[in-house]
Amino acid sequence: MDSELSVLKGIGPRKASILKSAGIVTVYDLLSYFPRLYEDQSNITPIAHLQVGEKQTVFGTITGVSERYGGSRNMLITTAIVEDNSGAIQATWFNKKFLTKQLKAGKRLFATGKISWAYGGQGQMNMSQIKEFQILDSDEEASANSRVLPIYKTIGNLNQNFFRQVIEQALFKKDNDIAVSYAIREYLSDEFRRKYNLMLREDAFREMHYPSNMRLQKFAKYRMAFDELYLIQCGLMILKKMSRDKKEGFKHKKDGELIKALLTDLPFELTGDQKKAWKEICADMEADTPMRRLVQGDVGSGKTIVALLALLKTVESGHQGAMMAPTEILATQHFEGFQHLLKNMDVRVELLSGKLTKKKKEAVYERLLKHEIDIIVGTHALIQEGVKFADLGLVVTDEQHRFGIEQRAMLEQKGDLMPDALVMTATPIPRTMTLTVYGDLDVSLIKQMPPGRKQIRTFVRTPDRRHLIYKFMREQIEAGRQGYVVCPLVEASETSDLPSAEEIFEELSNGIFYGVPCGLVHGKMKPKEKDKIMEAFHQGEIKLLVATTVIEVGVNVPNASMMVVENAECFGLAQLHQLRGRIGRGEYASYCVLVTSQKTENAKERMTIMESTADGFVLAEEDLRLRGPGQFFGSMQHGLPDLKAVDVLEDIDILLKAREAAVETMNNAELQRNVRPILASQYREQFFNITIN
Ligand code: ADP
Ligand code: MG
Repeated sequence: MDSELSVLKGIGPRKASILKSAGIVTVYDLLSYFPRLYEDQSNITPIAHLQVGEKQTVFGTITGVSERYGGSRNMLITTAIVEDNSGAIQATWFNKKFLTKQLKAGKRLFATGKISWAYGGQGQMNMSQIKEFQILDSDEEASANSRVLPIYKTIGNLNQNFFRQVIEQALFKKDNDIAVSYAIREYLSDEFRRKYNLMLREDAFREMHYPSNMRLQKFAKYRMAFDELYLIQCGLMILKKMSRDKKEGFKHKKDGELIKALLTDLPFELTGDQKKAWKEICADMEADTPMRRLVQGDVGSGKTIVALLALLKTVESGHQGAMMAPTEILATQHFEGFQHLLKNMDVRVELLSGKLTKKKKEAVYERLLKHEIDIIVGTHALIQEGVKFADLGLVVTDEQHRFGIEQRAMLEQKGDLMPDALVMTATPIPRTMTLTVYGDLDVSLIKQMPPGRKQIRTFVRTPDRRHLIYKFMREQIEAGRQGYVVCPLVEASETSDLPSAEEIFEELSNGIFYGVPCGLVHGKMKPKEKDKIMEAFHQGEIKLLVATTVIEVGVNVPNASMMVVENAECFGLAQLHQLRGRIGRGEYASYCVLVTSQKTENAKERMTIMESTADGFVLAEEDLRLRGPGQFFGSMQHGLPDLKAVDVLEDIDILLKAREAAVETMNNAELQRNVRPILASQYREQFFNITIN
């Protein structure tokens, strides 16, 4: 599988290294580099025959381009006139500055989408609805024969022809190298393929790159998407089975005194969604199969309390509970929050932090083993070798997207029996993604926000407005509130002229915030110092906190009502959303100001989206659209593979079939034997402890 690409003619070390930078290392990777669109000449509709409202393909020469600003939001509107020998149509884009360079008279436009009427009755393609279009140079020839040609996304100086040539070689070479044939070899039985309506794998690869026609290409794409989803599901299920096979689960008791006491002590009532999630958790915990549940809820939706209820339930049933958080700050905060809420109860809560001395750590280990601790909160320190439990009944992983599946599994292995597992994540993701990434989990959704939250108002501003922004912030602080300033960099850097957190801290604390208690936290500080500052901010002693993204997850200071993000263009949507979630946690009207001078298309679009919505699900879908599944997927859950053929927003049906097939596979030894080798080779990094037999 790891065959070097050099088996193919035309790929030397230099080209191989360019490919590598795009993640293409093996022949399989190359063959999974699917075309971004096809030039299907048989299906091009002459412009004169285009029907309004129908999805059609246009291929014509650009004869004129114009740009203007207009519309209610004063957007850049780019129009191109596209002609073929039957007629002309107008194509329109909104806010696509980068097109200025690419769209030139004489080039050609190839696009598929719906046609609408423009003012004056002329046909118009609104390109913002169209995912795939390609601007071709006049000499990039649309081949004269009737074959459907692949169009690849070029990488560096590797052009269309290069990709067509090497991929064609790999697919059609007579004396196929072992590596090549292995990469695309069929691994499913005929019977299984017939049942799930799957094209032969080798054919599917060929039809993906050189479709005989677009109907077969769709069929091929189905197979490719199916394979990806099916293999990941199988991988997850095998992992789950391996851990479950070993151990039996816990059967927790019905709610008792502790739970009742906590619910009465709470200063608020649970929201409807929290109650529902809690009910689902109870049902799982009281059953004798181990719970595997994901609680998905936007930032600030109140997942922690649900976790605490579950932890108490395991304590009530006589077991221990563990909660793992991705950062020291968050773990400490949970620990202190729990201590506070449980202060009238006889429950022993402890914090295991990475920065404890060896001696103190060992003392905690010992008490865990003697069951002198009921609930332990900690960071990765919890999955260290030395940690053993007397009776681990429940494992909670907070902000799961910050951990790998392996890490979660490691904590679950800590007991003799199989503990129940509760997984929490604030990164809302489309359903396909949930099922793929968390394929082994049941899902509870907390969509509702606790009552009384003031909406956060978000503004995008250029740096020349900073003094006004900070003046407003000073007024907020003088009115009793607190605020965050977030910067992308820790310290001044030679490679970037962005102001660093340190510089901004100096500027603000000696300038406009002179006399206001200010603090600075960033990831390069000693944990002790960092915690001291965070604690002071928590206590309200520090009013203004200048920080890097260390505050991104979970920090909860309801009095903080304003956040300024400097150089906001450096952050992705999901990250900005998480950051913004630090404010608007109390009863105060809250303000988030994104300071940016960035004018790139993508940055602008991100900022506009942040301004227009606070809905984490909408943001997640936009993020996915802007970044593409590869990056989105990668940042969301470490260690799961890129999806190459799957359209994560669309392919829910394929996913459901693939899941069904994976379940069938788990119940059939022979099917499993077919899948394991390909899992082990293709997804070795993700599922490293799956062996071949
Ligand atoms: P997240 O889901 O982001 O982890 P938290 O659990 O930290 O959110 O909750 C955010 C804040 O909302 C906390 O201060 C918490 O005490 C509060 N909270 C949680 N549930 C409710 C509720 N039902 N009513 C009012 N406030 C709540
Ligand atoms: Mg949380």
